Amino acid sequence: MLTQNLGYPRIGSQRQLKKACEQYWAGKIGLEELNQVAQKIKKENWQIQLDAGLDLIPCNDFSFYDQTLDMSLLLGAIPQRYSSLLSKGKDELDLYFAMARGYQKDGLDITAMEMTKWLDTNYHYLVPEFTAGQEFRISNEKTFAEYSDARQILGHKAKPVLVGPVSYLLSGKEKEEGFERIDLIKKLVPVYVDIINRLGDAGAEWIQLDEPYLALDLSKKEKEAFEFAYNSIAGQVKGVELLVATYFEGLLDNTALAVNLPVQALHIDLVRAPEQLEEVLALIPDTLQLSVGVIDGRNVWKNDYEKSLGLISKAVEKLGTDRVVIAPSCSLLHSPIDLDLETTLDPEIRNWMAFARQKLNEVRELKLIGEGNHDLLEANKKAIESRRSSQKVHKQAVKDRIAAITEADTSRTTAFPVRQQIQRGRFNLPSFPTTTIGSFPQTDDIRQLRARFKKGDLTAEQYEKSIEQATIDAIRWQEEIGLDVLVHGEFERNDMVEYFGEQLEGFLFTKNGWVQSYGSRCVKPPVIYGDVSRPKDMTVRWSKFAAAQTDQPMKGMLTGPVTILQWSFVRDDQPRDVTTNQIAFAIHDEVLALEAAGIGIIQIDEAAIREGLPLRKSKRPHYLDWAVRAFRITASGVQDRTQIHTHMCYSEFNDIIEHIAAMDADVITIETSRSQMELLQAFAHFEYPNEIGPGVYDIHSPRVPGTEEMTSLLAKAASLLPARNLWVNPDCGLKTRKWPETKAALENMVAAARQAREQISTESTI
Ligand code: GLN
Ligand code: ZN
Repeated sequence: MLTQNLGYPRIGSQRQLKKACEQYWAGKIGLEELNQVAQKIKKENWQIQLDAGLDLIPCNDFSFYDQTLDMSLLLGAIPQRYSSLLSKGKDELDLYFAMARGYQKDGLDITAMEMTKWLDTNYHYLVPEFTAGQEFRISNEKTFAEYSDARQILGHKAKPVLVGPVSYLLSGKEKEEGFERIDLIKKLVPVYVDIINRLGDAGAEWIQLDEPYLALDLSKKEKEAFEFAYNSIAGQVKGVELLVATYFEGLLDNTALAVNLPVQALHIDLVRAPEQLEEVLALIPDTLQLSVGVIDGRNVWKNDYEKSLGLISKAVEKLGTDRVVIAPSCSLLHSPIDLDLETTLDPEIRNWMAFARQKLNEVRELKLIGEGNHDLLEANKKAIESRRSSQKVHKQAVKDRIAAITEADTSRTTAFPVRQQIQRGRFNLPSFPTTTIGSFPQTDDIRQLRARFKKGDLTAEQYEKSIEQATIDAIRWQEEIGLDVLVHGEFERNDMVEYFGEQLEGFLFTKNGWVQSYGSRCVKPPVIYGDVSRPKDMTVRWSKFAAAQTDQPMKGMLTGPVTILQWSFVRDDQPRDVTTNQIAFAIHDEVLALEAAGIGIIQIDEAAIREGLPLRKSKRPHYLDWAVRAFRITASGVQDRTQIHTHMCYSEFNDIIEHIAAMDADVITIETSRSQMELLQAFAHFEYPNEIGPGVYDIHSPRVPGTEEMTSLLAKAASLLPARNLWVNPDCGLKTRKWPETKAALENMVAAARQAREQISTESTI
C-alpha cells in the first residue's frame, strides 16, 4: 500500500513566511532574503514528510500568497491592467504581489484581483479573471523550479501539484459579456499538456491535479468539460501518472464520471463523505488506483484508526493493496502545523489532538497497522476511548438540555407585528432610526492596552479603567452626533468569536495553531472540544456599564451560534448541529441576562451563516433548518418589548431569503452599499416583513461617503421596502477603521437620516 500527502502548510511553524512577506512589502528586506525564507520552509516541509515515510510528497504546494494565483501566472492568465508593470520591467514577484494586493507606486494605481473563499474553507484565493479572447501559455517558471528543488531532496517521491484545468476555470470569473469561461477549456488543455510533459521530462512520475469541483453540483457542459479535458490530456502526455484529487464533498451523481476519467488514480474525501466509498468501489474500473482520504485535513483531532481501517480494508478487499493509497482527506493547508509546539495545553486534551505534522505520522501508522503492527492500534484506541468517556468533554446537564428542546425553545411568544407595536411604544424612535453595527475603531492604543494587560504590565483594574474610558468617550461622541441607538464600542473584545470562546466552557485556545486565511494573514481559531456551557455572564458587565452612561437605548452585542461554530475548530465526535445547539443555549442565557439587566435591544451577529452553507445543493435545506433554529433558540423566551437585532455581512441573499426571514429577528442589518441596494431586491421580492437596516456605506475602505449619496441610497431602499421598517446604519462594524473617517462618515450618515425623515414618506404601502 502506498501513502501520500496532498499539500502541506507553507506559512512556517513560526509564521516565518508571513513575517518575511510583510517585511518585503515594507521594503525592509530584499528579494534574496525573502527567497531564502521560502526555500528554508520548503526544504523543512519536504524533510518532515520524507521522515514521516510517505511515498508521494507534494511540491508546488508552496506559494508566496495563493496557489490559484500561482496557476494564473503559470498559465499566463494575467489581466490586462498589469501590463504596465510588465513593460516597466518589474520583477516577476512584484507583478505577482501586485495581482494579489494592488499596486500604488511609481505613478501607477492598479487594483488587486478579487479574493474569495476557497469552497467552504476560510482560506481565500485570488479569483482568476477571463476575457472572451483569453489566451493561455506557460508564463512562469516557479512550478518547474520548485519541482527540481523537490527532486533533489525527495527523488522520485516528489509529486507536483496543480489546480486541475476544470476547477481552475470554474473557480474564476468572466470579466466581459458574451462567453462562458468553461468554453475556454479547449484553449487551456494544450497548456496543461505542455506543463505536464515538461514536468514528466524533468523526472516527475506522478502529478496531482486538484479537481474539487468534481465533487460539486455540475451542469452537463461542465461534466463534458471534465471528460474532454482528461481525455485530451491522457492522450497527449507521456510517461507520467495522473492523480485527480477531489475533496470537501462526495462524488454522488458524478461518481461514474470521476472513476472513468482516463487517469491512474483518484483521490476521494472519506472524512466529509465516507458513504461515497461503496458507490466508488462498485463503479471503479480495473486499472484505477484509489487514494482514500481518511485523515481529516481540516480539523485538529487525532484520527480514529479503527474507523479509518474499516474504510481502508473495504477498499483493499475490492482493489487489493496495490491499488489503495492512504492519505489525508485534503491538503493539510487547512490545519495548524505542529502540536509539539503546544506546551501548555491540558495534557489529557492534547492527547486527543493532531496537527498537520502529526497527521503525516498517522498516515504512516495506518499503513503499519495494516501490515500487522497492533501496538500502534492499541495506543490509538486508548486515546480515542479516553476522549469518548472524558468528563472534560461530556456534561450530562448540557446534553439533557439539548435533548429536551421543545417548540417553545425555538420561538418568540408572539408574532412580529405585535412585538413591533410594543417595541415602538417602548423606544419611541424617530423614523429611519440610526445605529452602528457594534465595534468602533480598535486603535493601536486599545490593542496595546490589551497586550500589556496580557503580559502582566497592567493590573486588571488599570486595564478596565482604560477600557471604561474608551467606552465613555465613544458614548459621549455618539450622543453628540445624534445617533439614536448606541453601542458600547466592543473595546474590551479582541475578536468577536474568541471573546466568547474564552468565557465559555468546552473551548480551548492554542498558542501556535495558526492557519492561513489569505496572503500573509493567518487566523488562530478556537478549538471546541467539549459540551459547551456558560458558567457566568459574559457581556453583562460592559453592557450595563455602557447603558448607565446614557439615557439613549444601548444595544447589547453578542455573536451568534453558527458564527461561533463556523470560525472555530469543531468537535468531530458529534454532529455540527448538536454543537451549535449547545452554543445557542449559552447565548440564549446571555440574552436573558442582558434583558434582566435592563438592556432593551440585543444584537446577535450571524456573520457566517451563509458561509456555512453546504457545497452541494441537496444538503442545504437540512443545514439552513438547524442554523435558523439555533438562532431562534438564542432569541426565544425574550419579552415582546425586547428588540432582537441580527447582523450579516455579505450580500447574496437571493437563495436563502426565506430562511433569513425565518430567523424572525425584529431588525436585521446587512451589507448593501457596494451593490447599490441591489440585493434589497431579494427582500422586496419576498416582501420581507420585519425591520431592516441596509448598510448605507461601505466600511471596507477609508473613503467618507457624502450625505446626499446616503440619502439617495435610502430613497432607493424606500422604493423597494416599506420606509417605516427601515433603519440607517453602516455595512458592518467599524473596528478596522480610524477615528477621523469614522466620525466624518457617521456625521454624514446621521444627516442623511434627517434628510430622509423630511423627504421620504413613511406612509407608503409597499
Ligand atoms: N458586532 C461586530 C462588529 O461590529 C460585527 C462584525 C461582523 O459582522 N463581522 O465588529
Ligand atoms: Zn458585518
